[in-house]
Amino acid sequence: MKQGSLITLMFHGIVEKMPDYCRYYATRDCHIRLSDFEKMIRYCTDHYRILGIDDLPVYLSGNAKEDGVLITFDDGLESLYTLGVPVLKKYNARATVFLTSGWIDNPLEPSVFALERVIYEHMPVTATVSVKDCFWEADVRDKKSMSSFLDGLWTKLLKTKTPPLSLQDDHITINGKTLDHFPVRMQKGCWSTASWQMLSQAYAEGILEIGAHGATHIPWSWLSDEELERELSENRSRILQKLGMEVVSCSYPHGLRNENTKHVVQKYFKYAFANVPVVPPDHMELSRLHVPYHRPNSLKWLTQYRRQGDIVRKMASAIGLV
Ligand SMILES: [Zn+2]
Repeated sequence: MKQGSLITLMFHGIVEKMPDYCRYYATRDCHIRLSDFEKMIRYCTDHYRILGIDDLPVYLSGNAKEDGVLITFDDGLESLYTLGVPVLKKYNARATVFLTSGWIDNPLEPSVFALERVIYEHMPVTATVSVKDCFWEADVRDKKSMSSFLDGLWTKLLKTKTPPLSLQDDHITINGKTLDHFPVRMQKGCWSTASWQMLSQAYAEGILEIGAHGATHIPWSWLSDEELERELSENRSRILQKLGMEVVSCSYPHGLRNENTKHVVQKYFKYAFANVPVVPPDHMELSRLHVPYHRPNSLKWLTQYRRQGDIVRKMASAIGLV
């Protein structure tokens, strides 16, 4: 009998329509249209067994009989709750969400994301970001220069090992005023997270399973062993405190990891997910397929992978893309 395959899909947020202020390609790429999400879930429930973390041992040991799909979300964004959960319920499906506890604790959208909305509302502006080793400044006149400003900023942040989510409002100025001076900053954006209460409700209903994604979203490979242990245990104990559950799985913030990271992570979790396909499978670096917004471009990339490519091609044909 044929061995059941395992595929893990990765999502972040869901949008009814892409907000015009989302100019940075990575933000756009991390949000799937609601209609596409529903088509994807319908296809998965029609053709595959929808898995939970408990199903992993049988799939990873090669003893599964049916093909299975694990649906995962990173970060715990509000749109997962408001738009995603109703779809999952409708199709009797479920998903695993990896939470950054410090991000959920803060009701405000992280400064690095709110910046995009503030610039959009006030263009043309001179924007500066200054934090530790990272300084970035530009005149942002239109949507195109907005996208290159944000692209450059993110590159600089990662190059100088400045955790993007550590940026605070007073590290950012728009026309000389810090970010907190702009009322639009206080509004919700597509990177606002669900509340603990929302997550707790969806968890209690069996729609969402919970995994870990760090206390602060700092890349784990940037930390010393001691710092990483602190980051992981803080994350785990906050989830235990708020949701009353012990997490056994996690995903790497920004997908960044190395051999040492994996070594520390395995002390805390049974399973760790990467953000790309990884061959051969490893419990501390499990493959995931990012389901992008700009599908025609990324689909080509996704379909290059033999096993994962098959399912992506099937899904793509189900939703009329190829
Ligand atoms: Zn993340």
